Amino acid sequence: MINQELIDYIIKCRALKISNEQIKTNLISIGWHNELINDAFHEIVSIESQKLPLVRINNIFKRYSPSKNITVAALNGISLEVYKGEFLSITGYSGSGKSTLLNLIGLIDEPDGGEIIFENEDIKGSKNRQLTQLRLFNIGFIFQFFNLLEDFTAIENVAFALRLQNVGFRKTKERAKEILEVLGLKDKMKRYPKELSGGEQQRVAIARALAKDPLLILADEPTAHLDFKNGQLLISLLREINVKFKKTIVLVSHEPSFAEQADRVVILMDGKLNDIKRLRL
Ligand code: ADP
Ligand code: MG
Repeated sequence: MINQELIDYIIKCRALKISNEQIKTNLISIGWHNELINDAFHEIVSIESQKLPLVRINNIFKRYSPSKNITVAALNGISLEVYKGEFLSITGYSGSGKSTLLNLIGLIDEPDGGEIIFENEDIKGSKNRQLTQLRLFNIGFIFQFFNLLEDFTAIENVAFALRLQNVGFRKTKERAKEILEVLGLKDKMKRYPKELSGGEQQRVAIARALAKDPLLILADEPTAHLDFKNGQLLISLLREINVKFKKTIVLVSHEPSFAEQADRVVILMDGKLNDIKRLRL
């Protein structure tokens, strides 16, 4: 049997850039048997090699030209795979390109160079209509400012998003109710956004993303307008959705204690990939 504690320890050491040799020597010196250590390393390699990409980003570039003589290079040759079922975070200083990268992963924007493969489909040359379909059915977004419709109640906000997928009226209401209950908003379904706390509004936004049963959920600084406690509740909820509903999640957060709760952390700097750390298998 593979020792989970041993695997976690090795993963942590590797995230700290300690070499495999050093990890082994260290483990042996504190009493672990050589064979157990090798088994754990094999298990890690085996699990890692079984991961399948949902989105492949290949050497992408993105520039903005806010005015005629100004060009901002927001992304400078980034390659990255988002694996099916993982909880990935993207972190880095303000202006490092996090939102730009997330918007490309979410097919909101197109790159100036490089390719994006979503579920084995190269999105280059896709018509806007096709991209909209892909997004509508496969990707749920959660934003910093909850982006709920003010004149709609919680349940109407969730149901409305489903209506866009041509789900029948009765069905949308049922499904919206079900999801809001799962997210602990049973008693607040009929409230308008302004009658809900920030944390509750963000949970409605998550319900809206989750209701359409997407392959991928993208969240851009979803905790930015919450206090730390509610921020943590939200991150825990994202993890629960990742595990229970088997959703692939990409979270953008500049807050290290939140970003580091993901399975892998992508660190951006000046539009380049500075590092990818695996924190959990
Ligand atoms: P982050 O989310 O990490 O703060 P962004 O992806 O928003 O970073 O921005 C990366 C860079 O691109 C920054 O220098 C930012 O000023 C610039 N940028 C982003 N969006 C635009 C835009 N619409 N027009 C011009 N420049 C932009
Ligand atoms: Mg941003």
